[in-house]
Amino acid sequence: MATIAFIGLGNMGSGMCANLAKAGHDVRAFDLSADAVKRAESAGATGVASAAEAVSGVDAIVTMLPAGRHVRAVYENEIFDAAAAGTVIMDCSTIDVATAKSVGEAAAAKGFLFVDAPVSGGVAAADAGTLTFMVGGPEAAFAKAEEFLAVMGKAVIHAGDAGTGQAAKICNNMLLAITMIGTCEAFALADKLGLDQQKFFDISSKASGQSWSMTSYCPVPGPVETSPANRGYKPGFATAMMLKDLKLAMDAAATAGASTPLGAQAEALYAMFDNLDGRDADFSGIYKLIAGSWGRD
Ligand code: NAD
Repeated sequence: MATIAFIGLGNMGSGMCANLAKAGHDVRAFDLSADAVKRAESAGATGVASAAEAVSGVDAIVTMLPAGRHVRAVYENEIFDAAAAGTVIMDCSTIDVATAKSVGEAAAAKGFLFVDAPVSGGVAAADAGTLTFMVGGPEAAFAKAEEFLAVMGKAVIHAGDAGTGQAAKICNNMLLAITMIGTCEAFALADKLGLDQQKFFDISSKASGQSWSMTSYCPVPGPVETSPANRGYKPGFATAMMLKDLKLAMDAAATAGASTPLGAQAEALYAMFDNLDGRDADFSGIYKLIAGSWGRD
């Protein structure tokens, strides 16, 4: 069993940290929130007083932080100086591709085995250990990181060099936003045309309009029992998180000179939904904005 530092014990990190401890690893946990550290202790980890203390002398490090600026600060100010060369490092936060690349390259230059390993799956998957990891970094780093990530997830996929894990995450979520909005438009139009929404689902889910947004996460109540649409659009995957990922995708597209007109439209629509108090609703709740019923009941 290994000694692992876990930094960032929020909604996602707390369950991931608990799963590493449950698997028998010796986990040293740190967060700026003392309550979060206490929760980690009750799940079997050992709380420590700083990120630098957490990482000194460990075999592996996992970080699960809000955004690129937090990741850069924690690595540059604490981890790089306190951890030993050769340590396996996994940053599982969702951050901008440019920061992921530059932190990854700096880590490699210092002799660390670093991967960017953002996740698909929300808090329930983090708690259950069923996340999907999209991993960017050198083959040797991936080979070492895989066994730790496998404890926290059901799938661990090597995407390529440093930054490609983040690239996979934002490309996937941009596509998800686009298919969700398209699915919402189709259901709203079906309704206006007098077509029963369950009937439309029965037909389109077996025809060429089918997508994950329709068959696994249908944005209207009824057809898919587990959809947030059947629980008043309680997340699930909150609009604020989708908007964050779309902003990252649009920034990356601008830097790379890629043309993403539908991604830009999706970002604008989710920004509007966010502004209209949709921030904490599931991202499929944008159906109500498109159908003209948001805020009316
Ligand atoms: P969160 O805000 O609940 O947790 C982040 C934690 O990091 C907080 O507890 C905060 O105190 C801690 N933190 C911030 N700066 C720190 C520092 N310098 N040192 C130590 N701890 C620090 O966020 P979350 O929902 O757990 O998300 C974490 C990451 O996972 C984000 O990048 C997010 O985009 C991504 N993500 C979240 C979800 C989701 O459904 N919540 C799904 C997929 C990916």
